[in-house]
This record gives sequence, structure tokens and C-alpha cells, in this order.
Amino acid sequence: MNAHMSPDEFRRHGHQVIDWIADYHERLESFPVLSQASPGNVRASLPADPPERGEGFESVLADLDRVIMPGITHWQHPSFFAFFPANASGPAILGDLLASGLGVQGMLWATSPAATELETHMLDWLATLLGLDPRFRSDSAGGGVIQHSASDAALVALVAALHRVSGGATETAGTAAGRFTVYTSEQTHSSVEKACRVAGVGSAALRKLRIDPATQAADAGHLADLLAADVAAGYTPALVVASVGATGTGALDPVGTLADLAHEHGAWLHVDAAWAGVAAVCDELRWINAGVEKADSYCTNPHKWLLTNFDCNAFWVADRAALIGALSILPEYLRNEATESGEVFDYRDWQVPLGRRFRALKLWTVLRWYGARGLRDHIRGHVALAQEFAGWVAADGRFELLAPHPLALVTFALRAGDAATRSALHAVNASGDAYLTHTLVNGRLAIRMAIGSVLTERRHVEAAWHAIQAQA
Ligand SMILES: *Cc1c(COP(=O)(O)O)cnc(C)c1O
Repeated sequence: MNAHMSPDEFRRHGHQVIDWIADYHERLESFPVLSQASPGNVRASLPADPPERGEGFESVLADLDRVIMPGITHWQHPSFFAFFPANASGPAILGDLLASGLGVQGMLWATSPAATELETHMLDWLATLLGLDPRFRSDSAGGGVIQHSASDAALVALVAALHRVSGGATETAGTAAGRFTVYTSEQTHSSVEKACRVAGVGSAALRKLRIDPATQAADAGHLADLLAADVAAGYTPALVVASVGATGTGALDPVGTLADLAHEHGAWLHVDAAWAGVAAVCDELRWINAGVEKADSYCTNPHKWLLTNFDCNAFWVADRAALIGALSILPEYLRNEATESGEVFDYRDWQVPLGRRFRALKLWTVLRWYGARGLRDHIRGHVALAQEFAGWVAADGRFELLAPHPLALVTFALRAGDAATRSALHAVNASGDAYLTHTLVNGRLAIRMAIGSVLTERRHVEAAWHAIQAQA
């Protein structure tokens, strides 16, 4: 079996793979949500050396069931309530497959015009669906791009911010640690600190804003104090990151106030709405966008709660010149007429790597399959379930809600204390019937109930609640 897979062989095995995936989705509920594998189990079932002679594809599929499946935690399981959802959907899987089949690199407009133009257009569609300010659209000075992840979005926002705040000097001088400062709340995702390290300003540049204990939102007064003190001490504030739906509790920062303060000091305001942002497809939830119209950049992950398989982070800037200025380097071998004409976007200049997959295809297949109505129903269903779940928690005197829960994340604890909360969580997860994760809220251990799997119905939420109650 040394030859390439022929189109006929591909057709046959392709049908087998599609059947396998369809069967998997049908029998998801028969698996324990959390993999029961111990460290090393999966590798112990794999041969030590790669095969010398090619093998039949059937043997790979057989080993998928035998070796891989026991080491899978089932993120698409309807009783998966951990972290945040990572939606997969039929149209997204097929869109991704088409992208693989085409196998194009969309680094420049010229390397596949459709890859760039569909992406620009999908980000404009998404801006419409989410009700984002026209400043972020491609027909303004801004525009959108698909990043690998929200972490990449934070990194490129920081790099663009450093470029702008230093008047372009980062191009030639780099970023001296100890000169620039970055601000975000204690609740913000760790990707912001990682971005500081990667960009070279270092973790020491990061100032953590206090949070309001009741809402878990960033304290704008503290930002004002820190900015004034840093400027007085000779630092240059570069970036403020506001969260819309922080990872721990789903906290919503006062974006508009933080943006005003950032801009007073010449800093860039990036909004990380990785999980929650897509909820703005629903009119009644669009209030979560308050203040976003003042941001310099904004991102949300269709790969979390909007039915689009990882990876798909939608990232918009209001001033694309700052981003492109920070990241564009044009070596001779990439020169081409379209780039020189200035009439096209070359998305390599909007991201860290050069190469890029045709990810807009899966967003296109998703948006066309579901339509705005289907997307709204998807989000609304989960929000309604979460509100009902919070009602059950509030009605049981042994439990306590720990933070506001306007969307589909509910944080709660046992009144009996952290040890009781921890053991209830462990017992439920060990049973394999549901999977939930934890966070700290004002120093207390909290269970996070994140509702967002495509197949989750009321009965799954109810069963999880009964399992938790049984451990109280
Ligand atoms: C999940 C999450 C991230 C990280 O997302 P990636 O796309 O995996 O990098 C960042 N910020 C928030 C608020 C998140 O919920």
C-alpha cells in the first residue's frame, strides 16, 4: 500500500468516515462524558515504531475505536457542562472537510482570492448578526479576520497596540520590557498574560484590576488610579483588555468606561468576548455589547457557542492600519500585483503565522444552514435552561448562587463549604454521567454549570442537577 489513495478509495473510506462520525453523534450518550483513561494508557496501546509499509485505512478506523475512543472526553456529549462549550455541528464539519479537500493556503489574496473574500464577507455578516458597530466592518477603516483562537486575538491586539502607542517604533526598536503597561481584571483569561510574555513586555507589565465582589466585573476606578500612577512613573499604557463574559464566572466588565479611560491615556481597548459575545445574535441579549462601539478591537469565538468547530475566532479591529503596520513584512518572494495595488486584504498581515487555512468555509456553511433564526434558537435554548437551573439552585437551601448568571453559565456552591463542594463535584464527574468544572469566586470554590452543547436538552440538565443534589 505505497500508492496514493485513489479518488475511488478516497470515496469509499470517506463514506466510512462520515458514517463513523454520524454513528458517533447518535451514540454519544452511551459514553462516560469524562475519559476514564489514566496517564500513559493511550500510548501503551500504540506501537513503539511507525509502520514501515503502509496499512489499509480500515485498520486505522478499527484502532480509532480500540485505542483512541477510551481516551476521549466527549465534548459533544449532551451532559458536558465543563469549561465552555466547543460546539461542533454537521454543516461546520462538512465545511471544514471541504477546506481540507481544497487544501489551499489563504495567506495572500492572490494565493486564493475566494479564501480572503469569503472571510472578509463572513466577518461582515457576523458583525451584522451580532449588531457590532459599523467601525468594525471592512468598508470602514476596520475589518474582521479569523484568528486561530482568542489567545491569538489578544496577542495581535497587544502587538497592534504597541505599534500604535509607540508611533510605529516597534517595527525597528522592538519592545523594551519595563516601558509599556497592560491592564485587565483578575478574572480575565490567562491568555492576556501569555500575550504579554510572547510580545516581550513581560508578565511584569500586566496590572490586574480589582473586581467588584458582587458582579466580578473590573473596577474602573482602580484602572483610573493605576493609569495615573503609571503615567506619573514614566510608563506608557499600551493596552486595556475588557471581558464580556470572563472565563470563571461570565463577568461583564464596564466596557465603555474602561474604553474612555484607556483612550484618555492613548491606550488600546481590546474586548475579549470569547464565549459570551455570540449571544448578541439574540435581540434580547444584545445589551452585552454596551460600550463595544468604543473598542479598538473585539473578538468572539464561533468555535465555542456558535456551532462552528474549532478553530474559529472572529476578530475585528476598528483601525486595520495599526494591525497591518505592526505585522506586515513584504519579502520579495511574496510580492505580487494585487498586493501592490492596495485593493486587497492580505490576511497574513493580520495574524502571527504566514499560512492560513480556509476557515471561512465552515463559517459560511454554518451561517447558511442555520440562518439567523437557527442561531438565535440555539443560544436562547441554552440561556433558558441555565435560568431554570439557577432557579433550582436558589430553591435548595443547601446550595447558594455565587455570581450573576444572565447567560448560560451558573456558578454555585454548597453552603457547607469548599470541602463539601469539591467532593460533590468529584463524585459527579467520576460517575461519568456529567462533567462540570470549577472556579474561585471571592476565594470560595464554585462549581461552574456551563450549558451550551448542541445536543443538551432539559432532561440532561435535570439529571445533572439531581446527581449534584444526591451528593449534597
Ligand atoms: C475560552 C476563552 C479564551 C481562550 O480561548 P481560545 O480561543 O481557546 O484561545 C479567552 N478568553 C475567554 C473569556 C475565554 O472564555
